[in-house]
Amino acid sequence: MNTVINALTELAISKVHFRICLILLAGFTPVSTILYLDHVYSIAAISSVVVSYSLIVVFYHCDYFERQCSHLENEVIKDPLTGAFNRRFLNEKLNECLSVFRRNSEVSSIITIDLDFFKRINDQHGHDVGDDVLRQVVRNVQGRIRHTDRLCRVGGEEFILVMPSTNANQAKIVAESLRSRISNAEFVHKQKMTVSIGASEVTSGDTLDHWLKRADLALYKAKENGRDQVAIG
Ligand code: GH3
Ligand code: MG
Ligand code: MG
Repeated sequence: MNTVINALTELAISKVHFRICLILLAGFTPVSTILYLDHVYSIAAISSVVVSYSLIVVFYHCDYFERQCSHLENEVIKDPLTGAFNRRFLNEKLNECLSVFRRNSEVSSIITIDLDFFKRINDQHGHDVGDDVLRQVVRNVQGRIRHTDRLCRVGGEEFILVMPSTNANQAKIVAESLRSRISNAEFVHKQKMTVSIGASEVTSGDTLDHWLKRADLALYKAKENGRDQVAIG
């Protein structure tokens, strides 16, 4: 994904350069009209109009291109249903956290959030209501986390929250607060909704898989112990 992001960034930068050139050109056109007033006034005036019009068209396309770029960027890293980040983004982010940890021992944590008995919501209220509940959970979590944290949807009703520069104790506090927030929220289907959460911090010698596995095992523990709770792995 880095390659795609880099390509988009390069395009954005080259577009900035392009705009600077256009602005210089736009400034140059009326100046050249005045300079040539005595000699070939009509030709200069006509070219001025043509150039200005062309610039407007080009500027319009630049804006369109910019919108397409940001749309494409979202498509690549976001889950279309909930707007949370996707698994592709998660892997990038986790690798980044692992690199930071290996370089300067700065600990990051993840929490795996799984909705409890979510299948029942679909069965009792329909898939569309299930989708709404998923969106609501995402909004709820996003309303509580730091702007550097990243919520990713990794399965149907399973999410991983990546928390850079956060140790397991701090992650547990966030996880508890999210759990309680969700169990107290009012959902579209007017029923209580709970989540089980597994948390783990990165430790020496971890690979991505080891780190994720610990959070997963903690999640299973939380489920086995009765759901609606947090466990540390
Ligand atoms: P547990 O507490 O053990 O996690 O039980 P659960 O019912 O949450 O878990 P289970 O794995 O049995 O069911 C998950 C359900 O999530 C099944 C599937 O229909 C539903 N699901 C997966 N993706 C989506 C989605 O995008 N939208 C909706 N509405 N439902 C989804
Ligand atoms: Mg579930
Ligand atoms: Mg699940």
